Amino acid sequence: MKVSDKIRKAESERRCFWSFEYFPPKTDVGVVNLFDRMERMYMLGPEFIDVTWGAGGTTSDLTLEICTTAQSVYGLETCMHLTCTNMPREKIDIALEQAKKAGIQNILALRGDPPRGQENWTKVDTGFAYAVDLVRYIREKYGDYFCIGVAGYPEGHIENPDKEADLLHFKAKVDAGADYVVTQLFYDVDVYLDWVKRVRAMGITIPILPGILPIQNYSGFKRMTALSKTIVPQFILDDLEPIKDDDQAVKDYGVRLAIQMCTQMKEAGQMGFHFYCLNLERSTRLTLEGLGFVAPREQVRPLPWNPSLGKNRE
Ligand code: FAD
Repeated sequence: MKVSDKIRKAESERRCFWSFEYFPPKTDVGVVNLFDRMERMYMLGPEFIDVTWGAGGTTSDLTLEICTTAQSVYGLETCMHLTCTNMPREKIDIALEQAKKAGIQNILALRGDPPRGQENWTKVDTGFAYAVDLVRYIREKYGDYFCIGVAGYPEGHIENPDKEADLLHFKAKVDAGADYVVTQLFYDVDVYLDWVKRVRAMGITIPILPGILPIQNYSGFKRMTALSKTIVPQFILDDLEPIKDDDQAVKDYGVRLAIQMCTQMKEAGQMGFHFYCLNLERSTRLTLEGLGFVAPREQVRPLPWNPSLGKNRE
């Protein structure tokens, strides 16, 4: 079934829904563990799951294998990510054909970052330059067979300093035939809500799912947000400071923050949430439990101090 149909159904039933994103592990043991986790997380009732695609097709076989198993063995509605740079069109054709053969009807169409070890992405001969090209290509070749998702950037895409031009490029890929949007992770809900308003004002009506990444550990969070220049509200930095050396306390704070962010978005009318699970179960499960979306199995451990979670914000 198409993700867009599932979203439409959930919205018409006025119920919140969620999806999980996984990446292909590097080792065989990691793959076995991932399948085990997917099977358990099936019980959390995701509307669909995503599997990422290594830039330049570096994980193509494994991404396809995981997608095929998730779709046909675990019965999880699966969306395969597909990038289009640093890769010939023939590789895209093979991926789309195999996805179709496996009964997968959902593709997240992306440009892709430079493959590991390379500084820039490239358009190879017979390949594409931007996500919009891939959206057009899939629509031309497959008509309505695939439901196509695209990436959105509430803070603007890091490579484009011109936010207005970036929004217009975003609109172009939606207009080329996208069915829904999943956003880049963010930690400032106001930025997300404001971006959604601007996007809607441009006439974009397809569903938008915010990408949620519960904080897992302090150094990883600092490194990742610095690299991607993600806006981190000061209250989060203040809350994390006293617990930065206590991994479990940071994880628990990450869950509380994710619950608070989703609650704020829900109050603003958001019904769907996309979780970057990092192939882990606990933080996502606890967030869903805390939101009352699934029955609780365990309590989040009380923190040794009272986090502000933005309560003192002006
Ligand atoms: P595009 O929409 O093509 O935009 C990229 C940049 O080009 C932007 O700065 C835009 O303003 C500019 N631009 C767009 N069109 C034009 C044009 N016609 N002329 C000039 N400039 C233009 N990466 C992976 O490798 N594998 C994954 O599985 C993966 N999954 C992701 C999932 C999500 C939800 C998100 C948000 C990102 C994901 N990424 C993944 C990262 C993504 O590949 C990068 O963010 C990449 O830099 C941009 O991809 P895009 O599809 O958004 O690009």
